[in-house]
Amino acid sequence: MHERSLVQNLLKQVRQIVATQGGGRVSEICVQAGDLSGVEPLLFAAAFEEMVPEVFSAECRLKLDLVPVTAVCSHCQHEFEVLDFQFYCPECQSGTVDVIQGDELQIISVTMESIDSHEGVSA
Ligand SMILES: [Zn+2]
Repeated sequence: MHERSLVQNLLKQVRQIVATQGGGRVSEICVQAGDLSGVEPLLFAAAFEEMVPEVFSAECRLKLDLVPVTAVCSHCQHEFEVLDFQFYCPECQSGTVDVIQGDELQIISVTMESIDSHEGVSA
């Protein structure tokens, strides 16, 4: 499954981030995914839920931020949102457009709790 390898790669990156921060319990991972990144949100979330307990903990949540596809017309420089994969300029109808946003899959933030915060202190 395509999503599994995307999630695997993502979790590997998060693990590196956690390592550079000196470790901690990951409570939330915020990811930005463009319409062109090939991410199917439901499948991605399902793969995440299945795989995250192996790497972090089952309580770790995924926040998927979907990014619309944006392109700029190389003819009139008009910037517009691409809907339904219609890659032509709504201003001048030119078909020569450059995608400037929408094919990314990137980590926006990783929320960590320090290792001590849940252990040791009890009410
Ligand atoms: Zn145009």
